Amino acid sequence: MTQGISILMYHQVGPFRHLTAPMKAHRSTYCRVDRFADQMAWLHRFDYRVLSMDEVLACVRGERPVPARAVALTFDDGYESFHEHAWPILQRYGFPAMVYLVAGMLGESSSWFARDGRDTPPLMSAARIRQLRREGCDFGAHSMTHVRLAEQSAARMRAEVGDSKARLEDVLGERVQHFCYPYGSHDARTVDAVSAAGYACAATCVRATATPADDPLTLPRKAVSHGDSLLGVLWKLHMKNEAKTPSIRRAAFRPTG
Ligand SMILES: [Zn+2]
Repeated sequence: MTQGISILMYHQVGPFRHLTAPMKAHRSTYCRVDRFADQMAWLHRFDYRVLSMDEVLACVRGERPVPARAVALTFDDGYESFHEHAWPILQRYGFPAMVYLVAGMLGESSSWFARDGRDTPPLMSAARIRQLRREGCDFGAHSMTHVRLAEQSAARMRAEVGDSKARLEDVLGERVQHFCYPYGSHDARTVDAVSAAGYACAATCVRATATPADDPLTLPRKAVSHGDSLLGVLWKLHMKNEAKTPSIRRAAFRPTG
């Protein structure tokens, strides 16, 4: 395996036996809970090193070596179903997990799905988030209202990025230094806004392994899709290491590796 970290990207984890037509168009955002359980059991059984995103950041910065078989687990949007389905399995193995929250919509529904005819499942409330934080779950920001940041005005972009950090720090009572671009939408301007807001680490949807050559504000990830069998996930872990297009790096960024 290349010395890199496979940051796996999940969205909804639940009993999705069959996908409806509008869901099928977004199959990479649904993971069957039975398959998720198999994937976690397998990471445990074969001694994968599941890192927290703080540990990933330290590796990317060159502050600690990238361990062999390094994986991180990220969950976008902060669905209540994360608490119901994914978290008990993660706890079984003591795996760290990063959930990126839509900070302006806590306790509401994921209403941005309505326009493509999908269900709009509930998002975790502030109380639920605080409960999971006490149980060891990590949280980062995913904007205020789940918009494509690269398409926003400078002022709206700053607000989406900066206000979500402030709101979550208020909810959690601690510093929030992780961000994730909704829809993976980012350009050089967006990355600068995330940097200016004070985040140390941000995740994209570019498919590759993360290494010390990456800018910590544009870390690539690998989506686990509804159709992925255990073998499919294995393939993604060990292959698909090089991005099709290079990640955006800040002008001032100098890789450590
Ligand atoms: Zn999202």
